[in-house]
Amino acid sequence: MWKIWIVAVAAMMVAGADGARADSLSNSVRADLPSLLYLYHDLHRHPELSGKETRTAALLAEQMGVLGFKVTTGVGGTGVVAVMENGSGPVILLRTDMDALPVSEATGVSYASVEPGVMHACGHDIHMASWIGAARRLSSMKGLWSGTLVMIAQPAEETGSGAKAMLEDGLFTRFPRPEAAIAFHDAADMPAGTIGYSPGNTFANVDSVDILVRGVGGHGAYPHNTRDPVVLAAKIVLALQTIVAREVDPQDAAVITVGRVEGGTKRNVIPSAVKLELTVRSYSPDTREKLLAAIERVARGEAIASGMPEDRMPIVSQAEGPVPATVNTEPLTARVISVFEQRFGDRVKRRPPTMAAEDFGRFRTGDKAGIQSLLFWVGGVSQEKWDAAGGDAAKLPSLHSPLWAPDPEPTIATATEAMTAAALELLKKR
Ligand SMILES: [Zn+2]
Ligand SMILES: [Zn+2]
Repeated sequence: MWKIWIVAVAAMMVAGADGARADSLSNSVRADLPSLLYLYHDLHRHPELSGKETRTAALLAEQMGVLGFKVTTGVGGTGVVAVMENGSGPVILLRTDMDALPVSEATGVSYASVEPGVMHACGHDIHMASWIGAARRLSSMKGLWSGTLVMIAQPAEETGSGAKAMLEDGLFTRFPRPEAAIAFHDAADMPAGTIGYSPGNTFANVDSVDILVRGVGGHGAYPHNTRDPVVLAAKIVLALQTIVAREVDPQDAAVITVGRVEGGTKRNVIPSAVKLELTVRSYSPDTREKLLAAIERVARGEAIASGMPEDRMPIVSQAEGPVPATVNTEPLTARVISVFEQRFGDRVKRRPPTMAAEDFGRFRTGDKAGIQSLLFWVGGVSQEKWDAAGGDAAKLPSLHSPLWAPDPEPTIATATEAMTAAALELLKKR
C-alpha cells in the first residue's frame, strides 16, 4: 500500500516541481495537503511508543529517499537522518519527533488508533506529516536555496531520551553539524493555523530527582521501637513546598513537584524505606543549583529532626540526566519570526514560556560551541471548538489527553508552510 502511494506522490512532485516558487509556497502546500493528510491519518492509526518507532521510521525514511535525501536509519535507536546537500551555505537542522503515548484514544475520529492503549496524544504525527511536507517543498525548490538541509526524525521524545541518544550516536559528527536547529510543536491551547513563540526561554530545564527516605522498620503497634520513614517522608514532602515559596526569587520560575510516593506493604508494618519521585524545573542555572542543594538540605534536616541515625540519612539522587531548557536564541528567533509575521500577519502571537519539558533543548547544547535553536508552536484546535469554548483553553482537551484531536488540515498546512519558509530564509541564496 505504501509503495503505490509513494509512486503517486512522486509523480505529483515531478508535476509540481518546475512551478514551485517561494511566493507561491502556500499554494503548493495546499496542493499537497490531500497527500499529507493521507500520511497523517496513517501515522495516527499506527502510533508507536518511545523507542519502538520502527514502522514509523521506515515510512519516513522511504519518503525522504524518494525525495532525493541521503537517508541514514538507526541513529540513536530508531532515529532517521536525511541530508540534502545543495551547494555552499549554512547547515540547517529541521527536527520532528516520532513517538506516541500509552494513552487509549477517545476522540472518536474515523482515523483513530488501531493500537490498543497507544495514541498520538501529543501530536507528533502532525509534526511528522508537516516535516515531510516541508521536505517535499524544499526538495522541489532547490533552485531557491543553497546550503545543506539535515532533517531528523527523533525517537523517544516523551521519555526525554531520544535527542540524547541521537547526539551520542554521532548526530553532530557523522553528519554535517548544523548552525541552527528548528522544530515546532502543535498547541492544544491555540486555534488551528496560528503560530506562537516565546523569545528566549520556551521549555524549562528538568531534573528528575529521587529521594530514598530510609528508616528503621518494625511492627505498626510499636512505633517507639522504630524510626518511621512514612511520617518522615510526609514531613519532607511538605517541607519541600517551602523551597520555591520562600527561597527562590518570586520573579524567577521554579517548580518542585513530588509526583510519586512509594512505600510499605501492609497497614501494620512500618517499612524500612519510602521512595519519593520529584520533578524539579527551572530556567536559570543558579536557580537550578539552589533547588537541588535545598532538596538535599531539607531531606537531611528533616531526617535529623526525626532522630534518624546518621547511617539512615535520606539518599538523594538523579533518576536520569537533566534535560536542558529549550531556549529560542538570537539572532535566529527574530529573523525567522519576522519572516513568519510577513507571511502569516496577526496569526503570529507571542506567548509566555512554560515549565513543560522538551528534549529539543539538547540540540542547542549538543556540542561545546552551542547551536542556535528555535521551537515554535502551531495551534491545532479547530476554530469551531475554539469558539464553542469561548477561547478558554482550560475548557479544551490538553496535549496528552485521550480527547486531543487537532484539526489536521489548517495545522499541517500552517506548520509545513512555516517550516519551509524558515528554512528558505536561512538558506536563501546570497
Ligand atoms: Zn508530549
Ligand atoms: Zn510532544
